[in-house]
Amino acid sequence: MWKQQPLCTECHKEQESSLRCSKCNNLVFVPTIQGPHSSKINLDTMWSLSEFLPSFTKPISLFEGNTPVIKVENIPKYGNLSLKLEFRNPTGSFRDRALSLVVSDAIQKKKKTIVGASTGSFGISLAAYSAKANLETINVVPQNLELSKIEQMKIFGSKVIEIGDTYYDAKLKAQELASKSDHYLATPDVNILTIEGQKTISLELVLQLKNITAIIVPRGAGSLIFSIFKGFLDAQESGWIEKIPEIYAVSLEKSKVSHLAESLNIEKPFLLEEVKEILHKTKGSEIEIKADEMITAAMLLAKKEGLFIEPASASVLVAAEQLLDKNKISASSSVAILSGSGFNALNIYAAQMRGKKKVVWGLSENSTTKFEILNLIAAAKAVYGYSIWVSLGKVQSLQSIYQHLNELEARGIIISSKTAKRKEFELTTKGYETLEKMRNLIDFI
Ligand SMILES: [Zn+2]
Repeated sequence: MWKQQPLCTECHKEQESSLRCSKCNNLVFVPTIQGPHSSKINLDTMWSLSEFLPSFTKPISLFEGNTPVIKVENIPKYGNLSLKLEFRNPTGSFRDRALSLVVSDAIQKKKKTIVGASTGSFGISLAAYSAKANLETINVVPQNLELSKIEQMKIFGSKVIEIGDTYYDAKLKAQELASKSDHYLATPDVNILTIEGQKTISLELVLQLKNITAIIVPRGAGSLIFSIFKGFLDAQESGWIEKIPEIYAVSLEKSKVSHLAESLNIEKPFLLEEVKEILHKTKGSEIEIKADEMITAAMLLAKKEGLFIEPASASVLVAAEQLLDKNKISASSSVAILSGSGFNALNIYAAQMRGKKKVVWGLSENSTTKFEILNLIAAAKAVYGYSIWVSLGKVQSLQSIYQHLNELEARGIIISSKTAKRKEFELTTKGYETLEKMRNLIDFI
């Protein structure tokens, strides 16, 4: 099925579909592919680029890919920036490119059940493509994920297991289920087909636009950046481009964490080292933005350009504004990837429009409060129940803040000590790890 068998980057052992080497656990890479001349490609769906993709006896497709590129016209601060509308894929996100391959692979391997961990759009896409392929699906997600996401998975007939606080908890459970029952494992950062599917974004871009000097991509756990770089490598190998554009990765701003935290060995997202190397190689950089700027940018895009995207997808617009401001990129030859549809985050907009409490994308209202509390304690901005309540704007009862603190302490995420009269809170090692995971994953998955 592979045009070029995946290889371990370190020991060069040939691999099947895992993103980590079965022998030495290093990164697995599909060798760069030299495709046909660009004039030979007639873009219809992602599968028009099949010469760059593994082949399957029965490809499962819902007409993914070939998403349009349009230019901003009515928001002067973005100039005439190009937007790649990845939210126009069948289930509203770029993940459909990955799941088309992943589910085709599961069918080829004659699996009956497919299991995957995610925090949203990957799981929705998994459920839809599995429905088309008549596979049983188990989506494993963290507890407190937004209902609108869980309901979409269920509408496509997927079973949903809610477990733990973060994506990593869900990932472990999915792994356990898959190995115990010989199910197909579709978790995004363990399966290399995810990268191969998503790389078609940049192959398409090269065919759609004459000159690209910079591309702005949400970072998340790194798989989208890695995929886009991979697509450009294939395009370069095929003689479609000479130089790979600068790649800019967008992530959420980190609050200042005390040096206690820096000394802790915090687990990094899966592809973070690779992402750093890609940014360095292409002369791009990482741009940090504030979470609340995303929703403002998303709503402006809806009002001025008629495009309805997820708040997290608007992170690239906030970053584009910063880059244009500093003259680091030129709008006319830069592209921002709009990764997900606003329809996948309807309840966040509903809360916003009705003046309810702000909600961080990807988290329920309860988890959002816990996330905010952890950030305050980590930055030592507020360490007492009362001061946390004040810092959060007194929008909920003091009692409910104490309830959250008790729950966090019961889970070993924070620890309290009694000073004079008050209880002072600090994060435990597990707390810092949890916060770091939440920051890295709120995101863009
Ligand atoms: Zn190896």
